[in-house]
Amino acid sequence: MDVQESRTDADINAIAGGFLRDLAFAQSSQQKMFGYKRAAAAILGLDVPLTDLIGARGELPRIPGIGPASTRVIREVLDSGASPTVEEAIDSSGKRADIDRRRELRRHFLSRAEVRRVLAAQDMRGPTLEQYRGDLQMHSEWSDGSPNVQEIADACRDRGYQYAAVTDHSYGLKIAGGMSMAEAAEQRKAIDHVNAGLGGAFKLLQGIEANIDLAGNLDLTDDEAATFDVVLAAPHSRLRRSEDQTDRMLTAIAHPAVRILAHPRGRITGSRAGVIADWDTVFASAAERGVAIEIDGDPARQDLDYTLATRALEAGCLFALDSDAHTTGQLSYAETAVAHARLAAIPADRIVNCWPLERLLAWLAEPVSQRANQSTRSAHRNREALTR
Ligand SMILES: [Zn+2]
Repeated sequence: MDVQESRTDADINAIAGGFLRDLAFAQSSQQKMFGYKRAAAAILGLDVPLTDLIGARGELPRIPGIGPASTRVIREVLDSGASPTVEEAIDSSGKRADIDRRRELRRHFLSRAEVRRVLAAQDMRGPTLEQYRGDLQMHSEWSDGSPNVQEIADACRDRGYQYAAVTDHSYGLKIAGGMSMAEAAEQRKAIDHVNAGLGGAFKLLQGIEANIDLAGNLDLTDDEAATFDVVLAAPHSRLRRSEDQTDRMLTAIAHPAVRILAHPRGRITGSRAGVIADWDTVFASAAERGVAIEIDGDPARQDLDYTLATRALEAGCLFALDSDAHTTGQLSYAETAVAHARLAAIPADRIVNCWPLERLLAWLAEPVSQRANQSTRSAHRNREALTR
């Protein structure tokens, strides 16, 4: 593809972590499988590339969570870019087909070290962390997250944000502790109380992550949707199917309350591809209706990734870059989303999280007809910029 992609192909931690995950799935013992999965997670979560850790005599330091067998695999990967040990284990496991499928499903995922490299790189046109003003997807104790809304506001302020949206699951998603409308009214009071205590220094919005059902409808009535400051729609079912689901996604986007299409595919690294759709058609419709496309920064999701985000950019879409945090520590996942936006060279002006609060609120309050006009104009501007 382009220069930016070829550089991320050299994400050595993603490559080594991937081989460790292959080795995990080649095990017959559950305990060994979990051990290698933990080792893979440790490598994927390192702040620096493995190549920076090698000592003067080629030795690797002790890395927490990494045992001797995993170290051997890492050594092989550092020496040759491959691992004969892992390939042998796969062959004798009889699970090569499944592991090949999993390999295909971890393309374009960035390790933590690669995210940090991309954020620090000077030669990219996408947004910087400094331009990122607030996070628009996270979960609290009101659904399947752990923090309360005060803890969320404090943690977001510590990160330098001007605003954030708490977006708990709506009542249709029972498995994720979806909030009833009575609970949502209680949560609104709690959020108002937090905002009153902050005296305008920071604004916490009440959002909702509505569930997209099999037909593309939301688990909220129009009146219910109207009580929230921002409505995200996201798929949580039919994520492992091979049939086309373009119509389902178009129906979700057509809902007048939806402002953000969150984790559009519902993919999980090395596990599931998520929704299969004609994404260029979905993006064109989102651009026309002024629905922002999310880059979900949860390291296991990275959804959209930078390759698909590039196509959404060409279609004229707006973007939301969010953490999808379920703890305050996970708010840093927003950095993964910013890194993908940088790799996709998305201008900050097209990212709603980079807007000042007043502009964000004005956009959220606009009826679809007005948003549509605005985004068509920006799509036109974007096409001009691309052909320049
Ligand atoms: Zn979700």
